[in-house]
Amino acid sequence: MRLSKRITNLTGGGSDGWDVFRRARAMEDAGKPVINLTLGDHDIPTDPDILHAMHEAALDGNTGYPLVPGADELRDAIAERVTERTGVPTGRNNVVVMPGGQGALFAAHAATCDHGDTALFVEPYYATYPGSVRGIGAIPKTVPARPEFDFQPQPQDIIDAIDMRTRSLLINTPHNPTGVVYSRETLEGIAKVMIDRNMWLISDEVYDTQVWEGEHLSPRALPGMADRTLVIGSLSKSHAMTGSRVGWIVGPEEAIDHLINLSTHTTYGLPAYIQDAAIYALEEGGEIEDDIAERFRQRRETALSILEKSNDFITVPSQGAMYLMLDIRNTGMTGEAFANALLDSELVGVMPGESFGESAAGHVRIALTVDEDQLREALTRLVRFAEAEARAA
Ligand code: PLP
Repeated sequence: MRLSKRITNLTGGGSDGWDVFRRARAMEDAGKPVINLTLGDHDIPTDPDILHAMHEAALDGNTGYPLVPGADELRDAIAERVTERTGVPTGRNNVVVMPGGQGALFAAHAATCDHGDTALFVEPYYATYPGSVRGIGAIPKTVPARPEFDFQPQPQDIIDAIDMRTRSLLINTPHNPTGVVYSRETLEGIAKVMIDRNMWLISDEVYDTQVWEGEHLSPRALPGMADRTLVIGSLSKSHAMTGSRVGWIVGPEEAIDHLINLSTHTTYGLPAYIQDAAIYALEEGGEIEDDIAERFRQRRETALSILEKSNDFITVPSQGAMYLMLDIRNTGMTGEAFANALLDSELVGVMPGESFGESAAGHVRIALTVDEDQLREALTRLVRFAEAEARAA
């Protein structure tokens, strides 16, 4: 039977850039001692206190249909958090709970783009972005963020990408895969283009608790932006709750009303006992959250101390998120060739920059998702390999 083009073209065909990850996994399964720094999934399990809250809620009978927009207490807790962190007055009616940041990304594009419209996103990008756009029938188009500008997107590049049917721009700060945090100047430049061209900004802020240098600025807080910004949030990274699928969208009330309708006709909300765990995490989980951020901060310090000792192959400022991007161009290799050879000769898995878009060619991404001992070992091997390759180049 014929399937829709929308679903069969979701990934756009061709390689999805995850070959090194799959090879690393296969080698692990075959018993090889691979240290795998490819994937951005937490190695930290969800805190038992949060799980206890979930368990209690389920045993207490909160197992029926949930409130589709999210429980009032959860929406209030999210609104309060956003108000506190950004200074933008935010109430329950500005919040809809979503199945993870990923569900929110899909819904935000459904809310802003019609079939055949163009949705922009910054490249290098998180793997699901193009598919999230295609999935709602819009056309994905990239805006390059180049290494020579420290991967901060430039207003002129956004303007150059805009066509007659462009409705939205998706950005992500702190940024996966580069670890860059967008500066105020970058965000003000983006805001100006959004206002001048009457566009929606979809701001993916799922790493907002992982900022190691500078500070995170939510573009919704910039003048004129609250009415045209949909912020994507999640407990996946901040509270190590990737498997619970708790995310949200914050935006103007009218957009949120329609997004609630979308949820009614798609997910029908998030399991109520998971929402109760999310309320616990937001109201009582401050220490848990700080502890998780601290662990990543320490891993990043450890990684930098090893990498900085070596040579000049890091050029990407690592300011946030659980990733480091390394510039390996002085080896003369592509990111893909480097990642494959590193896996074969040193049993260390990293993601080729090209997997995230052409602007990250000649780079590799490291996820800080293993403990410090393994991280130290992996990076020592990586440095040894890169230095040898650079000498031979
Ligand atoms: N956005 C970015 C940039 C991500 O890296 C991820 C996950 O890795 C997500 C969104 C989705 O997160 P979740 O759906 O777990 O909230």
